[in-house]
Amino acid sequence: MYLVTLSLPSMAPRQVRIAALDGMAELGADPADPGAAVQLVARLGQDNPAGWLDDLPVALFDRLCARIFAAEFAQTIECKSTCESCAEPFEFGFALAELIAAQDAAVAQSGFSADRDGFWTTPQGLQLRPPTLADLAAAQDGADMAVRLVTAGEAELAAVETVLEAAAPLLTLPIATACPHCAAEQQAQFDMARFLIDSIAAERPFLIRETHLIASRYGWDHASISALPRRDRQAYAALIESERSAALKWRAG
Ligand SMILES: [Zn+2]
Repeated sequence: MYLVTLSLPSMAPRQVRIAALDGMAELGADPADPGAAVQLVARLGQDNPAGWLDDLPVALFDRLCARIFAAEFAQTIECKSTCESCAEPFEFGFALAELIAAQDAAVAQSGFSADRDGFWTTPQGLQLRPPTLADLAAAQDGADMAVRLVTAGEAELAAVETVLEAAAPLLTLPIATACPHCAAEQQAQFDMARFLIDSIAAERPFLIRETHLIASRYGWDHASISALPRRDRQAYAALIESERSAALKWRAG
């Protein structure tokens, strides 16, 4: 369990308690399920007060997915893409902290700062709050979302979107990159929540192998192994592997 402070310069910070990723959470990470990231975060954050996730602004949810990824996987993002120009596949990477720092700097420069109740007011008198996960689940479309968020002024979608882009940017964004084969500049679409789920799902063969090693060596049942934090499970599996290779070396003389 660790404490995460989620913040953006435009809104009040909030702290959430997050459990370490375990096998049960990893097994639930299905890339085909659009709700997989919310379900994962709900599971890892079940020690927080009821309703915490519904009330969480979507922009801070993305930041939380980034923190979980950094804690469990890596500080850098490695993406696969296909060139728009020469159609060759290529990989590119970027530092998560740098992307977030650049977003923070842009938000700070926008000058938006939420009042005590969490609302922003534009010079034109538009008053609104950031969308939460509950808004995202309930809104029928963009226009309906605008009506939900605006408390003073006209709930005009384009104006609302402009404020949200400046004050509550998401980690779903195009990343500028260049093809290493033909040097064509292009934008690759990145989605933090989806990337987290895809990264967990891609490690499924390791999860199965580690579970197998631990079950064979210690005789623990599936539920007990699935409840182990990912890092502990990996550590046990590594010990079993090194024991096995030491035994093999001894037999080989
Ligand atoms: Zn290319």
